[in-house]
Amino acid sequence: MADRYLSFTGTAPGRFLTRRLGLPRPAPLRRWSAARPELDGGLLHLTAGTSGLGLAPVLARTGPGPDETTSRPAAVVLDATGIRDAEGLAEVHAALHPVVRSVAASGRIVVLGAPIDPADHHQAAAQQALEGFTRSLGKETGRGITVNLVRLTDARAAESTLRFLLSPKSAYVSGQVIEVGPHATAGPHDADRPLAGRTALVTGAARGIGEAVAETLARDGATVVVLDVPQAEQDARRVAERLGGSALPLDITAADAGARIAEALPDGIDVLVHNAGITRDRRLANMPAERWAPVLEVNLASVLRTTDALLAAGALRRGGRIVATASIAGIAGNAGQTNYGASKAGITGMVRSLAPHALAGHGVTVNAVAPGFIETKMTAAVPLFIREAGRRMNSLAQGGLPVDVAETTAWLAHPASGAVNGQVVRVCGQSLLGA
Ligand code: NAD
Repeated sequence: MADRYLSFTGTAPGRFLTRRLGLPRPAPLRRWSAARPELDGGLLHLTAGTSGLGLAPVLARTGPGPDETTSRPAAVVLDATGIRDAEGLAEVHAALHPVVRSVAASGRIVVLGAPIDPADHHQAAAQQALEGFTRSLGKETGRGITVNLVRLTDARAAESTLRFLLSPKSAYVSGQVIEVGPHATAGPHDADRPLAGRTALVTGAARGIGEAVAETLARDGATVVVLDVPQAEQDARRVAERLGGSALPLDITAADAGARIAEALPDGIDVLVHNAGITRDRRLANMPAERWAPVLEVNLASVLRTTDALLAAGALRRGGRIVATASIAGIAGNAGQTNYGASKAGITGMVRSLAPHALAGHGVTVNAVAPGFIETKMTAAVPLFIREAGRRMNSLAQGGLPVDVAETTAWLAHPASGAVNGQVVRVCGQSLLGA
């Protein structure tokens, strides 16, 4: 499972050979740790066009301090919300062209755009242009630098999103377009433990990505409930014990799974993470119904069923957060995965449809993470050649870690992320597959 190529390219002969042969040169990514929670360096705040965003006080509270010297910023935020026509795009070039080379390794570039105005085709063209710009720049920067676009109207509503994107927690999130709504929600009492006093249920949390999600939500103060199939009960208990939570052995495909969760958690749930998932790969021509059905059942039908049951039972507390798990296979498609791709695209459909309604009720948000190639037992089972291709075919030239998906989930679960709703955020190092 270890990425030996990444270790090799960090050695002197490795550096020499990869340069000479033109091979991918992945940079070791700087991830969050308690000892080093912030990026190393300052933030450079640039503006293209005339902005009325009032961003400065929000940036002052968010992540890196101002870059005094501007010689090697760790983060660059370009406020391009004021660009209203094609001519204005010259200012985007003028702002970033002189600084892009100087951004520190594992640095961050965040472009801020305005929502597309359907009544103004010049504004729509200019703001949509930022998407192509961001995604192209993400493919150029290298050195572990990420580039993302946030569309927003209110800087305060986007504070938790900026905090995430301008921190080491978003190491494997690049080339994304994230839309943030206009209404800010109150932040937590304790910034270091934003989920304190909240209960988080994570399905499929006995191992892999789910285990990392449970661990990260527990770090953020949540009381975690580790749900997994009864066969994995021992592992689930081990994880729950380590995190001071509890285990819930339950097959999520059981018809009464929602009712049993509600019964096990009579005080309700604040964060519901649908992570359990399976694959049964085979090309459609060779795929019997027995391989099709369980994938659709675990990955999609049970997610719909339990979500419906928990919402109907009022088990999702006010300000609750639902985070489902899609996949880039559901966006780009993948040979041998018609069942899996269908199930994961279905999750995207569910999120987009449910989000506006859930929020209207009582502040519940519904979002999805869409992992790319993440180093887990699921991907360790992939044949070597395909595994190596999956690892390298992204802008960061390496696989992600379960913690990368977990950090993204924690941002979506954050009490101050109430304006982030209906989003499908890929955690894929900007995979070459998918949008
Ligand atoms: P994993 O196989 O390591 O872990 C999945 C967990 O889900 C296991 O503990 C399993 O017992 C549990 N589970 C399976 N069926 C269940 C059921 N019916 N009820 C309850 N629990 C059940 O997988 P992973 O790599 O950690 O993936 C987690 C999620 O991320 C899945 O939804 C997967 O499709 C998705 N994903 C993973 C990757 C990747 O690269 N690893 C990429 C894209 C999407």
